[in-house]
Amino acid sequence: MIRIAIQTKGRLNEDSLSLLREAGISIEDSKRKLLTKSDDFPVEVLYLRDDDIPQAVSMGVADAGIVGLNEVEEKNFPVDLVHRLGFGKCRISLAVPKNVDYTGLEYFNGKRIATSYPVILSRFFAEKNIDAEIHEIAGSVEIAPSVGMADAIFDIVSSGGTLVTNGLKEVEKVLFSEAVLIANPNLSPEKRQLLEQICFRFKAIESSRGLKYVLMNLPEEKISEVTSILPGMKSPTVLPLAQKGWCSIHVVIAEKELWNKIEQLKAIGAEDILVLALEKLVR
Ligand code: ATP
Ligand code: MG
Repeated sequence: MIRIAIQTKGRLNEDSLSLLREAGISIEDSKRKLLTKSDDFPVEVLYLRDDDIPQAVSMGVADAGIVGLNEVEEKNFPVDLVHRLGFGKCRISLAVPKNVDYTGLEYFNGKRIATSYPVILSRFFAEKNIDAEIHEIAGSVEIAPSVGMADAIFDIVSSGGTLVTNGLKEVEKVLFSEAVLIANPNLSPEKRQLLEQICFRFKAIESSRGLKYVLMNLPEEKISEVTSILPGMKSPTVLPLAQKGWCSIHVVIAEKELWNKIEQLKAIGAEDILVLALEKLVR
């Protein structure tokens, strides 16, 4: 049995649960329970506030956890960073009032900066030899400059809309964050094996993201042209059709180039093109 901590509610909760579900680990979505067991995999899910996940994993209260890299870096507990999960993407940035004529990091010398991430910020300033006053505040960091509490802020940015609303502009992107899978460094061999199994499944889900499975009928003499349209592929799957001189081709195409490739395939004579969702890709 392996115990994984995830966020009780908030931005990472849903994506964490659906990633586990896609990996064949279904979890009863009961927000009233602190601990839930999966029926189909030896996993228990422990629901925690994201702030508490790094410590819980480092202490061994949970064996692993899904949490933002920003929290891992800020809390600074000894945990293994096992895998980046590709959701919950954001950055932590320095922002100043929009009318400031910002010319570089030296601007922050002697300034007061409000943040909920004092550890990450002081590490960054120490590296860059900047001497600023860091004020830790728990929430509503973005209003600190307008009420005179700070000259600048260091906070999470995703679209930048909140900064604009508060008359601020982003001037330095310090940390790029996303949800990560972390683990206790001293797992038993049994738990480590379960973690590897889960990680293997996560990677298969990830590999399939943005890919489509495409089937089409094609005159046989055009098979070699398919490989020039899709050069990344080892070789397409070719199946014979009842109609002589024709075959069925199966390929995997990245969604972002789907229409472009389909047009090229049509141009060499492909017909009856079927595009299917690709659920998992196990390499
Ligand atoms: P909790 O109640 O668990 O402490 P929280 O309010 O601290 O939750 P959320 O706002 O739910 O945290 O954000 C959780 C994580 O989602 C952040 O730590 C960050 O890694 C990620 N995230 C992604 N985009 C954003 C964003 N635009 N604003 C805030 N967090 C974001
Ligand atoms: Mg939190």
